[in-house]
Amino acid sequence: TFKAWVVEKTEGGQTLAFRDFDDADLMDGDVTVRVTHSTVNYKDGLAMTGRSPVVRRFPMIPGIDFSGVVETSDHPDYRPGDAVVHTGWGVGETHLGAYAERARVKGDWLVPLPAGLSPEQAMAVGTAGYTAMLSLMALDAHGVTPAHGPALVTGASGGVGSVAVALLARAGWHVIASTGRAGEADYLKGLGAAEILDRAELAKPGRPLGKERWAAAVDAVGSVTLANVLAMTKADGAVAACGLAQGMDLPTSVAPFILRGVSLLGINSVTTPQSKRREAWARLARELDLEKLAAMTSRIRLEEVGRLGEAILDGKVRGRTVVEVA
Ligand code: NAP
Repeated sequence: TFKAWVVEKTEGGQTLAFRDFDDADLMDGDVTVRVTHSTVNYKDGLAMTGRSPVVRRFPMIPGIDFSGVVETSDHPDYRPGDAVVHTGWGVGETHLGAYAERARVKGDWLVPLPAGLSPEQAMAVGTAGYTAMLSLMALDAHGVTPAHGPALVTGASGGVGSVAVALLARAGWHVIASTGRAGEADYLKGLGAAEILDRAELAKPGRPLGKERWAAAVDAVGSVTLANVLAMTKADGAVAACGLAQGMDLPTSVAPFILRGVSLLGINSVTTPQSKRREAWARLARELDLEKLAAMTSRIRLEEVGRLGEAILDGKVRGRTVVEVA
């Protein structure tokens, strides 16, 4: 047996407990990993609390990301002792997840630990940071550059937001960080933000087109906020939509698209193909300032992770959290 957080279905809800889990109950997979680190993403909050039905199989071990060391492998790319990283692919949702001392997954889901990152740093990045990089790559591919104007980041004090601020600033953008936490202004400026915008300015329904304020945006918030972000994007600019912290809806009009040529770029980190995954991790290892990564990262032990589910959904977790497992 090994220690794990386990979500069980009950009448009218679910329970979450830290307990022993039997190796024989692990799901199919050709690589078994001794988990050394994990992390806490917004989706992990949804899984641990059940506030949104992301868990599709019970019992479930939550946790969508882990880094660790291969124990056994029938996959040609991995051998015992290899350091590996996992994000996404339904782990912690439909496949037993990361908040455990052991995980068994498909080798095709893993990436080798990127050169230049420790297993702990890879989890400080995690799905949130990796999604910030996918957003930056989407903006790059669109052809929008710092010469076109500022870049906005919404949900800036959160996990995706903090990494996005650091990456965009490093790439030369004038970064406008939108946050509801005025007290985190110094934190965000430390990560590279040039300006702070009160998120209340974006939270209420606005006009179909507003003053053109940014050429690019990374939006972790969705809903009315994303509609306003689009309405204030400069002509031919682009917005990478990756989150739903305000809501899943998007009450917008076609005006930004047909009158300003604004593009909305969708970001999905869960099923990204291997080649793009490896490119994103290689760029993270090269382009993310490790001192800034350390400044945005807190640490907790595996047995403490249960209490962070509500906190992250309530927007009370700053930056990224590494879960120390081993
Ligand atoms: P997080 O750390 O909780 O960050 C979310 C941030 O959004 C909060 O810190 C807060 O920032 C802001 N926020 C929270 N509630 C809000 C509200 N009601 N209205 C406006 N802003 C609000 O979560 P995360 O792990 O970074 O994830 C961010 C979002 O991206 C989540 O919706 C998550 O599901 C999504 N996501 C998607 C993908 C993908 O593949 N597309 C991957 C990873 C994450 P401030 O306090 O600074 O305002």
